[in-house]
Amino acid sequence: MLAKDSKNLIFRRIPSVDSLLESPSIKSTLLTTPRGLVVRAIRQVLDTLRGEVESAQRANELPDLELNNVVDQIVRRLSILAQPRLRHVINATGVVVHTNLGRSPLSKGVIERFRSLAGCYTNLEYDLGTGKRGSRYAHVEEILVELTGAEGALVVNNNAAAVLIALDTIAKDREVIISRGQLVEIGGSFRIPEVMRKSGARMVEVGTTNKTTISDYESAIGPETALLLRVHASNFQIIGFTEEAGLEELVALGKKHGLPVMEDLGSGCLIDFSRYGLKKEPTVQDSVAKGADIITFSGDKMLGGPQCGIILGRKEIISAIKANQLNRALRVDKLTLVALQETLYTYRDKDRAIRLIPTLRMLCQPYRSLCRKADRLLGLIGRIEEDNFSVRLCDGFSRVGGGALPLEEIRSRLLCVSPNRLSAPSIAESLRSYNPPIITRLEKGQVLLDLRTIQERELKIVAEALTEISKRSKTP
Ligand SMILES: *Cc1c(COP(=O)(O)O)cnc(C)c1O
Repeated sequence: MLAKDSKNLIFRRIPSVDSLLESPSIKSTLLTTPRGLVVRAIRQVLDTLRGEVESAQRANELPDLELNNVVDQIVRRLSILAQPRLRHVINATGVVVHTNLGRSPLSKGVIERFRSLAGCYTNLEYDLGTGKRGSRYAHVEEILVELTGAEGALVVNNNAAAVLIALDTIAKDREVIISRGQLVEIGGSFRIPEVMRKSGARMVEVGTTNKTTISDYESAIGPETALLLRVHASNFQIIGFTEEAGLEELVALGKKHGLPVMEDLGSGCLIDFSRYGLKKEPTVQDSVAKGADIITFSGDKMLGGPQCGIILGRKEIISAIKANQLNRALRVDKLTLVALQETLYTYRDKDRAIRLIPTLRMLCQPYRSLCRKADRLLGLIGRIEEDNFSVRLCDGFSRVGGGALPLEEIRSRLLCVSPNRLSAPSIAESLRSYNPPIITRLEKGQVLLDLRTIQERELKIVAEALTEISKRSKTP
């Protein structure tokens, strides 16, 4: 054990901020780096060192307090602090629409549009025909109507906002009928009952968790009813003894009582993925054709576009939502509209959309093409120090993510890293702290890298990272 007295002596050996600022290498760093940032790096390193001294039980657990070593640590810390916080990571998790990793990467076409439009003025809210003020939504409304058959469309910040403003417009201070089986919570604390409360609508729950019939809805209709709501149970499935009223039944009931029907599709898709080997998800066009009066869905889930919430529906309801004061607070910016417009144009040709929109391309990438990609990765990996870990290819499953097809396992090809001297968590940690960070999946004591979500141009980086980490002498 280290005595308290000797610890005090050791604390005094930790260099001061001022003395470090005077050291030659730090002084030269100050020529190119703002002083505030350098001081922050120094303070962070000193805090870490103090913590290490504090917790050290024995002499051999004490940190190296040599000035040169401390300076080295500060320089390393500075290079981390100087990096932008939001940066490129490699998604090797196999979850295609990964909310924590930013959901959908945008297509080359979108990036080209950013290049030509982001740095200049645009006709965002300017009508070039009349020379007067125009609507920022006009640019995407036309193409949304064309693709889906809806009467009108509007775009807001995200789907949570879409649901909120729709409820606020249609059902404020009145009742909304919803099945108990559809009171979902989506990640990031979007809960239907809470959103309902925020909108000022009163929720009337009908049926049970596993069974709700159309007559349950009908017997709840009263003079205060403003809306019948259906929510896609995005991220869970109830199996066994179940029943849910279909959209057609609800629409018929709504017609009979003069009530609008709203469907929150969550991850709306414009393509029937069953043609590409996935399970059938209801498409946006299906909901429009079946007569839903209002439909909401996300722009960055299975649509593969930018974050936004798309609202489709009857002309008069869309007009009322546009006129709602909340709309001003939830409005989307120019770059979102540029990205959405370009993504939607690509959908005019479905096969082209599958090829060009990264989310769709990943979801539909066939197993045999993933095998070829995996072989290319393995070929790029240099000699691995098998003392640390070994690598091989194996079969496994990817997931859609983003609260779509929660049980769907899509057959995939993976690189499996089996730990040896380095443990699986420490391999995953090393990959995560690589530049760029590589995010993997830990399963049954192994580190898995799913080829489906690794982009072609990232294969070389992943190979280099694995080769380099396998050569490290001990766990960092
Ligand atoms: C994802 C989802 C939302 C929230 O959408 P965001 O775009 O994340 O705001 C709302 N409802 C359902 C059913 C969803 O799946």
